[in-house]
Amino acid sequence: MEVIKISPRGYCYGVVDALQIVRQAAKDPALPRPIYIIGQIVHNRHAIEELTHLGVITLDGADRASILEQATTGTVIFTAHGVSPLVKQQARERGLHCIDATCPDVTVTHDLVQRLVGQGYYILYVGKKGHPEPEGVLGEVPGHISLVETEADVDALQLTPQQEQKIAISTQTTLSQWDTRRVIDYIQRRYPLAHVHIDICKATQTRQEAVVEQAKGADLTVVVGDPRSNNTNRLVQVSEELAGVPAVRIEDLSQLKTEWLWGKHRIAVTAGASTPSQLTREVIRFIEQFQPEE
Ligand code: SF4
Repeated sequence: MEVIKISPRGYCYGVVDALQIVRQAAKDPALPRPIYIIGQIVHNRHAIEELTHLGVITLDGADRASILEQATTGTVIFTAHGVSPLVKQQARERGLHCIDATCPDVTVTHDLVQRLVGQGYYILYVGKKGHPEPEGVLGEVPGHISLVETEADVDALQLTPQQEQKIAISTQTTLSQWDTRRVIDYIQRRYPLAHVHIDICKATQTRQEAVVEQAKGADLTVVVGDPRSNNTNRLVQVSEELAGVPAVRIEDLSQLKTEWLWGKHRIAVTAGASTPSQLTREVIRFIEQFQPEE
């Protein structure tokens, strides 16, 4: 069967760096043990399993502060999604050795919101509720920022007249460009003078644009990635809403249902920025060899 191998796809540089930081920590005998990761280093079960084999413990929970409470001694690694200054401070106060694997693109947003609040702005941060990245950014400037995911969240804002006078907009790095634009347009209709920063990272943008351009003409898009990976889920949405191609998300080949391929001729394959390449290669190889009449 014909496979459109969408490119670029899969690991971004932020994920590669974060994984490398953890692998090096695991090899370093000088680091205090145990070594914990505060949350999933990247949102991918397979990547986490590899690190578990190296002796690194992934802790998980509702938010970074409660996850940190589970680490009483040793070394803690903060994930690519970034973490609030308060969580870093709590880790240091508890005598934990800290390693920061925050993606540089996320750090840019942390620095930006600090700078904007210093200039007197109140920030509307467009992001996903419950995702660790907004948690870290909101923790940079508590009291000076609100998280908005939808137009309804904008309607529900209760800002003071002073806050409304100087609004700035910032965004999570892994959102859909098109959804984000819609929410930002809505905010700007309400606050026409709002100062806009779109902080969607280049890796997310190029993977989404590649789906729009290259999936066209396919019968189905298969997106390989973890259900908790925001950028993975956005690729599914982009294929369906912008390329007009139905899409399915699978964690790995074991979740690919052959009935999805029946009656199809061209399948597009892509992967989230936290998906190991090997998993995507296995999916591509299987579909290429698949004969629909089987
Ligand atoms: S998706 Fe973007 S922000 Fe997230 S780790 Fe990759 S490069 Fe960094």
